Amino acid sequence: MGECLRDTSMRHLHWFQNDLRIADNPALASHAAADSLLCVYLMPKPRPWCNMIGLGGQRDRFLRESLQDLKTALNDRGQDLMVLEGSPELVIPDLVKRYGITDLSMSRTPGYYERKTQELLESRLGIAVHTYRGNTLFEEQTLPFELEHFPETFSKFRRKVEKLTVRGPSAELERLPPPPAAQFDAIPRAAALPSPALPLPGGRQAGLRRLRQFLFDQESITDYKQTRNCLDGLDGSSTFSPWLANGNLSVREVAHEIFRFERERVANESTYWLYFELLWREFFHWRAIIDDINLFRMGGVPRRVRGCTFEPRAFARWCAGDTEYPLINALMRQLVETGWMSNRGRQIAASCLINELDLDWRFGAAFFEKHLIDYDVGSNYGNWQYIAGVGWDPRGGRHFNLEKQAREHDPEGTFVAKWGGVRPSQPEFVTDAADWPIGD
Ligand code: FAD
Repeated sequence: MGECLRDTSMRHLHWFQNDLRIADNPALASHAAADSLLCVYLMPKPRPWCNMIGLGGQRDRFLRESLQDLKTALNDRGQDLMVLEGSPELVIPDLVKRYGITDLSMSRTPGYYERKTQELLESRLGIAVHTYRGNTLFEEQTLPFELEHFPETFSKFRRKVEKLTVRGPSAELERLPPPPAAQFDAIPRAAALPSPALPLPGGRQAGLRRLRQFLFDQESITDYKQTRNCLDGLDGSSTFSPWLANGNLSVREVAHEIFRFERERVANESTYWLYFELLWREFFHWRAIIDDINLFRMGGVPRRVRGCTFEPRAFARWCAGDTEYPLINALMRQLVETGWMSNRGRQIAASCLINELDLDWRFGAAFFEKHLIDYDVGSNYGNWQYIAGVGWDPRGGRHFNLEKQAREHDPEGTFVAKWGGVRPSQPEFVTDAADWPIGD
């Protein structure tokens, strides 16, 4: 009589981040035995650094479309997605309290700030916090070296991991525990529309379509090595990056589709090269974990001192695509209008900011972070450091000859014309007549 019954129900919460999918998502799959599952996404609020505030229009659009697609997939399984604003350090503890959450899961994201948030939640929440690494080809324990002995260059890394087996991806989940009684609002639509010049819609369904199109429908993969440096998307490289970065597709799904194509159709240098590029992504992912805060230091891990000026007008003109270099202007305009830029374009634009304009590379990286629909902390900051010569480039940085690049990659000037790269010439310095009267 009077015995107190303990509530033993398992009320779980999955915090979606860069794993916006219901397939091959070990963190999401871990809740099979839960009594209820609350699925949550927090809109990203990039740190206001290097004068960048908020997300660019196309990045915001791609993300919202991805969330809508995920919500629909969850609804089909009797689940739902709660999309909230606010910092995870405040919102997650509040949700844990309000819904009596007993277990929290999340996919681990590299990056110093993400690690700090995760550690804070683990120490403060007082409930079980489960983290999974769902966005890599390999698990930490299958790497043939300890993380502290991680290879310093990409070539060494590639040679060590190239022959490793990539675990097969798991299928889409058919069932999930029900959500708790809660209010799940509609996701507000983005202000921007996809650019007709490069329509890359967000969401898993669009990602799966592009995967099928590039591999099995058009077999574009078979000459990828020759076309990958094309400056415009869709005709050249795979454009898988936005779906990989947001986790609409898992990298193991993409790798296994490449392997299937090689078994069923053809295996050649180009099919291998697409996998080779996924290894670059993998390299920067693990390096971001190891390099931690150094990924954001101007001198990188080696703390290499690199002199530069800071001329705000030069930076503003680079961002606006209004420099004296038509190819750079075209690339920057393409980035802001579509949220995407080819790998060759990114290398050229970064080299210009670092070498021609002599600016701090981190400002360029922050502008990319704001606008790229495929923004990924390891790939973005790692590649910028690489070009600035403070990263893991054995050649100590890259300086691209802009005229030569334009001749090689845009010989007819089609790309520059398409994106309005030729600008009216601008005076380098503007003198205010009121400050310097020439005479009455
Ligand atoms: P494909 O050529 O088809 O390659 C297939 C996949 O391999 C890509 O989707 C990507 O996941 C991976 N990959 C290819 N090249 C690289 C590379 N150099 N580094 C890492 N992964 C690679 N990539 C991002 O995903 N997010 C970023 O924020 C990002 N920022 C970059 C910033 C700079 C300055 C530079 C030079 C590169 C950056 N990259 C970034 C890498 C690369 O430019 C893009 O991954 C690629 O252009 C995406 O187009 P794609 O999918 O058609 O690539």
